[in-house]
Amino acid sequence: DYPVYGRIDGPIVMIGFGSIGKGTWPLIERHFEYDADQFVVVEPNSANHNFLRQHKLRFVDTALTPDTYVEVLSALFPEGKGGFCVNLSVDTSSLDLMKWCRERGVLYIDTVVEPWAGYYFDTQDNAARTNYALRQAVRDEKAANPGGPTAVSCCGANPGMVSWFVKEALLTLARDTGRDATAPADRDGWARLMQSLGVKGVHIAERDTQARRLPRPRGVFVNTWSVEGFIAEGFQPAELGWGTHETWFPENGHRQDTGCKAAIWLERPGAITRVHTWCPTPGPQFGFLVTHNEAISISDYYTVGEGDAPEFRPTCHYAYHPCDDAVLSLHEMFGSGRQQAVHHILGEDEIVEGIDELGVLLYGHEKNALWFGSRLSNAETRDLAPYQNATGMQVTSAVLAGMVWALENPTAGIVETDEIDHARCLEVQRPYLGPVEAHYTDWTPLVDRWEHFPEDIDESDPWQFRNVLAS
Ligand code: NAD
Repeated sequence: DYPVYGRIDGPIVMIGFGSIGKGTWPLIERHFEYDADQFVVVEPNSANHNFLRQHKLRFVDTALTPDTYVEVLSALFPEGKGGFCVNLSVDTSSLDLMKWCRERGVLYIDTVVEPWAGYYFDTQDNAARTNYALRQAVRDEKAANPGGPTAVSCCGANPGMVSWFVKEALLTLARDTGRDATAPADRDGWARLMQSLGVKGVHIAERDTQARRLPRPRGVFVNTWSVEGFIAEGFQPAELGWGTHETWFPENGHRQDTGCKAAIWLERPGAITRVHTWCPTPGPQFGFLVTHNEAISISDYYTVGEGDAPEFRPTCHYAYHPCDDAVLSLHEMFGSGRQQAVHHILGEDEIVEGIDELGVLLYGHEKNALWFGSRLSNAETRDLAPYQNATGMQVTSAVLAGMVWALENPTAGIVETDEIDHARCLEVQRPYLGPVEAHYTDWTPLVDRWEHFPEDIDESDPWQFRNVLAS
């Protein structure tokens, strides 16, 4: 009794069949009509080939590179036949793939602006290693070639779903403070709504408590989604959308010279930059300020006014407490100065407890702070869909929602999730999110601090980033 959202004509090519690809496939099968022999996977890792064979899924055993992608994709997408490219890989350039698809009239979706292999570690200039630079290149392409076949950029859980949560949270806050809670019709309306509600900033506040029975062995990086992806982003500079309410500037902070200028970056890897944040299960906690596309896109989207001195812009950043085994893995990796040789993604059958609690914390307004998000358990996920844990489910169901939206809006050009119909997307996604809840809290970064040591904080203004950043 699952809803079928439409028919996909032409080939469906999934690039990458890792934890997210494997979980997205059953949702595509469940919710779209298509010819089964038109579904093809591009997957270079032989560890995933047995599963593909067992499930009679066609696959091409190759890694896309700048030299090969045109040839490989041209063979998979015959000219004039349309189709859908679902990019769920690491080490492939989202920008190049999306440009190629749009030229061919192929719909496209990804969950991150990914560069070609080597970019994250071989690029020497830290400003060029930021998500700001990666995102700006996609925004420049959108500006240079507006409209045309739809390409949904960064449509996973975060980036992705959390942008829809920001809108739901704003409407919740408007309703709960006695204001008009009608959804604004355009970007400017949403930005002005956030401004009028007095929101100063947004944490993408996540606590993953999924755990298995076995203690983490030394020398193994354990995570609940791509280890490769997490290590790559963890080594990028910490980065955040920089709001107009900030009165202080970090000593190791850098502004950007070109583009939308909504974000700054810090001269420090995100995965060892800690921030004070809050989630419903733990209450106050440390999160890591790992760079993410949504930190920049949300700050940009909700900007009121133009140029270098806008009237309003929220601060926005990720505040990520990954599963405990991933915290230990990071500690070991940064402490030893080398990446673990063995990577392990926790499977839904070995996880014995825990939830992925992923939401947005809107702060600084008259009700102080509101967390709005999904609190999906691994146990519930196992009843919802196969081949994924709770983290995967939040991502794959966002991919599904983005694909439905693209199919219903096939000529929208390049879009980010802030720019698409959040109500429609959440309607599609919500059956897969477990409890989706709003929680108010009176916690601020100034409460529950250790009092025995002096700190460089601003006690007059609780929601300054200066107070959020842990010393
Ligand atoms: P994974 O590491 O489990 O799988 C990545 C897959 O890409 C692997 O199967 C690998 O073989 C394949 N691959 C590697 N190089 C390739 C190449 N050159 N050409 C084609 N395929 C290649 O990762 P995952 O957990 O499945 O994540 C997939 C992507 O989704 C990553 O980019 C990750 O950052 C992103 N992601 C986004 C979100 C979000 O919420 N937005 C969440 C999780 C993951």
